[in-house]
Amino acid sequence: MTIFSRIIAGEIPCYKVAEDDRFFAFLDINPVNWGHTLVVPKEETDYIFDLDDKSLGDMMVFAKKVASAMKKTLPCRKIGVAVLGLEVPHAHIHLVPIQNEGDMDFRNKIANPDPEKMKEIAAGIAANL
Ligand code: AMP
Repeated sequence: MTIFSRIIAGEIPCYKVAEDDRFFAFLDINPVNWGHTLVVPKEETDYIFDLDDKSLGDMMVFAKKVASAMKKTLPCRKIGVAVLGLEVPHAHIHLVPIQNEGDMDFRNKIANPDPEKMKEIAAGIAANL
């Protein structure tokens, strides 16, 4: 079971943003910028391009809804989209509010983000879904 499956199962806490029957979204614990959100399928697949076409499309449509709520909630020009998958073997899309390119530098993460601020951001996005 991946760490993301344990989060989805409620075994590990997260700052939850959104959920439907097939997908789940929560804040990245080491955000590259405030509001950095991960969108994951509930079904475990390591590599995003191993998902079947429908799942991949549906995941992007779910991410679109989340991104729209993020854009309403956080000061940003756009929501940047990235897929890395080098750390956690459970397909996921990174959504990051950005003002400029530097806001998506995965080498510069916010270490130990304030839990209260994280909670507030997650609730704010969820309220705008
Ligand atoms: P990658 O697999 O390279 O796309 O990176 C995995 C991402 O998941 C990183 O940005 C981590 O900060 C994030 N991450 C790992 N564990 C957790 C967790 N328990 N809760 C939230 N985000 C996590």
